[in-house]
Amino acid sequence: MADELKTRILEILKTMEAPDGKQDVVSRGIVSDIFIADGKAFFSLTVPADQAQLFEPFCRRIEQQVATLDGVTKAMVALTAEKTAGSSAPRQSAPRPSAPPQGQGPAAPQGRRQGPGKAGVPGIEKIIAVASGKGGVGKSTTAVNLALGLSALGLKVGILDADIYGPSIPKLLALRDKPSSAGGRTIIPLEAYGLKAMSMGLLVDEETPMIWRGPMVMSALTQMLREVEWGELDILVVDMPPGTGDAQLTMAQQVPLAGAVIVSTPQDLALIDARKGLAMFRKVDVPVLGIVENMSYFVAPDTGKRYDIFGHGGAKSEAERLGVPFLGEVPIEMAIRESSDSGRPVVAVEPDGPHAKSYRDIAAQVLAELDSAGAKTEAPRIVFE
Ligand code: ADP
Repeated sequence: MADELKTRILEILKTMEAPDGKQDVVSRGIVSDIFIADGKAFFSLTVPADQAQLFEPFCRRIEQQVATLDGVTKAMVALTAEKTAGSSAPRQSAPRPSAPPQGQGPAAPQGRRQGPGKAGVPGIEKIIAVASGKGGVGKSTTAVNLALGLSALGLKVGILDADIYGPSIPKLLALRDKPSSAGGRTIIPLEAYGLKAMSMGLLVDEETPMIWRGPMVMSALTQMLREVEWGELDILVVDMPPGTGDAQLTMAQQVPLAGAVIVSTPQDLALIDARKGLAMFRKVDVPVLGIVENMSYFVAPDTGKRYDIFGHGGAKSEAERLGVPFLGEVPIEMAIRESSDSGRPVVAVEPDGPHAKSYRDIAAQVLAELDSAGAKTEAPRIVFE
């Protein structure tokens, strides 16, 4: 069914005249893999960065045409920019620091494409997503402390806050400055506790209500990945928006993720949401590195007695049932909340405490899972021209 739909989508694309007057987009091989889920079709076109604006209205026309097909409720077409063949210097466009671009394709320095729609980011060894099925489970807190845990293990780590609906990394890392721009061409990330950090929240005015469309999210995110001077990183941790909607799916599909960590609280409801997250990453062939159970139990500070207030252990048994690694549990702790909310993450400010140890252990397990995921799906090497 999905294959048949893909064929029909390609047939439509073949009949559409490209805005640059050249061959149709299928024949010239610039259409990514087409991904179809729940009646929604996602794919991207790779065009030279300077033609993004020309192609943008064309994408909208494709979306309308594809949505007329039986079996497609909605189509989302994003533009990705490819380095022009033969140029050795990475292409860069001016960052647009006041608001994310309105869906125009980002100009991007890129390594050779790893697969359809997924180009590696030069200098960044691995990108991992931290995701949750719903908000408020401690995803961002986990992302920050996991990043710090990885850094404590000696890795060069960055954190990218892609949670467009409620960017919280600036608060968690007490980032107050606006990032500056190098010659108006690239964005210099901020630094906190040894991490390079960047957030949509630093670029978008908090007061401005934003309605995010899929391609717009994608191009803002691609810009964050490719136009920020991350330098050499072993791991970039991406704090994803909560949930499993269009924005998440587009990101999971198009960001070259080496794996995903799913954060859940022990409650059943949250686990149902976590299962959806798991299913989403599996659909797009991103290895799920495992589940972290947050707010797992509570230790009374006065008596030291442990209380399993949310019915502890749900995530662990669920992980076993689903056949994904259980990465560890983090208790609900005043110290974690207070330090997080005041921009002093527990791994950074109490590195010898028990919570820092939990996060370092989780980080070590994430690394081990990344290694075995890498061994299973030997990624094509990125070759630089
Ligand atoms: P999400 O990213 O899932 O929306 P956050 O990381 O922003 O969640 O966390 C939501 C709230 O819960 C924050 O106030 C945070 O400080 C708090 N919190 C997260 N994890 C813990 C924990 N293990 N113990 C206590 N408070 C926590």
